[in-house]
Amino acid sequence: MAIESPVSVNWLDRVITWFDTHAQAKAEEGHPDQDKWILPFPFLLMNASVALIFVVGFSWTAFSVAVFLYFIRMFGITGVYHRYFSHRTYKTSRFFQFILALVGNSAAQRGPLWWAAHHRHHHAHSDQPEDIHSPKQRGFWEAHVLWWSRRKHVATRVDLIQDYAKYPELMFLDRFDSVVPLAMGGVLLALGAFLNRFYPGLGTSASQMFVWGFIVSTVVLFNGVATINSLSHVFGSRRFQTTDTSRNNWFLALITMGEGWHNNHHHYCNSTRQGFYWWEIDITYYMLKGLAGMGLVWDLKPVPARLLRPQPVARPHEAVPAFASVRAVSAPDASHAGQPFLAPAPARSPDVPSS
Ligand SMILES: [Zn+2]
Ligand SMILES: [Zn+2]
Repeated sequence: MAIESPVSVNWLDRVITWFDTHAQAKAEEGHPDQDKWILPFPFLLMNASVALIFVVGFSWTAFSVAVFLYFIRMFGITGVYHRYFSHRTYKTSRFFQFILALVGNSAAQRGPLWWAAHHRHHHAHSDQPEDIHSPKQRGFWEAHVLWWSRRKHVATRVDLIQDYAKYPELMFLDRFDSVVPLAMGGVLLALGAFLNRFYPGLGTSASQMFVWGFIVSTVVLFNGVATINSLSHVFGSRRFQTTDTSRNNWFLALITMGEGWHNNHHHYCNSTRQGFYWWEIDITYYMLKGLAGMGLVWDLKPVPARLLRPQPVARPHEAVPAFASVRAVSAPDASHAGQPFLAPAPARSPDVPSS
């Protein structure tokens, strides 16, 4: 009879728990060192692995796949995790909601419920002491990358996302949030091997496709999205006198497909569109318009006309004095009043038909 080694059981337990993020959150609950980072190893490994491009080499095929996956998964974050799950700015069917969630999940930035709940918290407490990724409160590195791997932030704040937590398929993605990214890595390996075998003229291979399509693309994507937390509250212009330090920044809007119009968004987060004018390029919005044209999503919420009139000039380097309460976030502009972020979930889901 085999004797179980407590060390190996413990190791196996830890690996299983790493895949089951809800179990991990439970395990971390009440731990005295809530500030400790507990997810740095996979993150650092991913970042360091970018250097493998010097081993696997370059091909336009692998590079093109990396660029494509950057943009499609950026849409998964901006068009899905942000504008759909966090802010409910358009509607879709339950089936397509799941497809969209898969695209968002493939970005390897944790599950849809975890992401959206933390983002709702950010809007409710923007640049206040409670805001866990405010560069004003905690500095650049905390806002950019460090906050998300701390023990105290592992858990999904289900209390803030009850409107979507009722869907078991979303709960599953949220709980096992590394399954989709790992599956994507596997598909890239297979694609590279296939192209190497049948189309050798393309000059790619399994390892090269994996390094460019999965590792490079995911690392650049993570940093692109993170600029909205770290830089778009620091650099740019302020059209609206919001209660936070949010800015509009055309460069960040280009690399994040529209998220750089962050001052617009903090002022009025209920519209699907974040670039309020035609010259404020918002590729996520154009893609959502395309999906709406195909009938896959609908009821995109517009920017109210009164916000498109000239605004009083906001102070350039300083936010207006912040309000202390969640309710006060909606105070400067009545446009927020219809959607308090911490409101209890509605009894029915207006987004998804009961299919
Ligand atoms: Zn937002
Ligand atoms: Zn913000």
